[in-house]
Amino acid sequence: MSRQIYLDGRFVPKEEARVSVFDHGFLYGDGVFEGIRAYNGRVWRLEEHLVRLYESAKSIMLPIPISMDEMREATLETLRRNNLRDAYIRTVVSRGAGDLGLDPRKCPKPTVIIIADTITLYPEELYRIGMKVVTVPTRKNLSDALNPRIKSLNYLNSILAKLEANHLGYPEVLLMNQEGYITEGTGDNVFIVRRGVLMTPPNNAGILEGITRAVILEVAKEAGIPTAEVLFTRHDVWTAEECFLTGTAAEAIPVVEVDGRTVGTGKPGAITKALIGAFRAKAMSEGTEIYPAGADASRVAGGGGSLH
Ligand code: PMP
Repeated sequence: MSRQIYLDGRFVPKEEARVSVFDHGFLYGDGVFEGIRAYNGRVWRLEEHLVRLYESAKSIMLPIPISMDEMREATLETLRRNNLRDAYIRTVVSRGAGDLGLDPRKCPKPTVIIIADTITLYPEELYRIGMKVVTVPTRKNLSDALNPRIKSLNYLNSILAKLEANHLGYPEVLLMNQEGYITEGTGDNVFIVRRGVLMTPPNNAGILEGITRAVILEVAKEAGIPTAEVLFTRHDVWTAEECFLTGTAAEAIPVVEVDGRTVGTGKPGAITKALIGAFRAKAMSEGTEIYPAGADASRVAGGGGSLH
């Protein structure tokens, strides 16, 4: 059966899931989104993703036409309609169709989309041997111009950096802000271990407040590893004992070389491996049940139709 996509309150087959060419999400990148994972029949950190989605929308004055409770149910129902237990979920809310001008007031009805599919970001062996990355000339968006804390549909800053990665032959890059402090990757947060302290840039460095990042800080504290949200430079990364990236799609992936400098021993570090292990154990055992015991199976098998 074809994938069922949630589109404005209805489920439609993938082939019929279309939005207007006048949608300002398409014309201007005017909208917000989330990337969410389901593991083992449970949605991982669903509440945090919903809160971030609604906060991003609030920041750009985009009224999401359904409540957070309805969005939660629509997310779970999308997984059920597609019989998925392990998935990557892409939730998009765009400004909706307007005219060719950019005035958001001309877009009366935001578009809401939920797609459930699978994702593989990096080859499996990179998780074992670690990844080599570089810093690039493209700087992170200024927070005063386009705040990276908003998970907006406008990802050109990351795409420009990704183009540099592709051009240079690396899978991922680190972006610096205008002051030369390390911020994050194109779709991941960054951590280093330096003199035994686990460090990651703070919000005001110009980053997306990653949900995986928060979990890593949480498991590090549980393990008694000292943590610090502080600004650091390329020098700190080059001379760190360990480095890794975190994100919903990538999960946590070791970095073993930055700008040609070997990080630590050149192999994924002990703290990195322990944190990745703790993260995976949590992700496999916690979350919002997609198919709670006793759920009505007929709903799972059901075809198209309206949710509300
Ligand atoms: N930074 C950016 C720019 C991202 O796009 C993402 C992925 N959403 C992240 C960091 C990681 O955030 P999370 O762990 O919530 O996926």
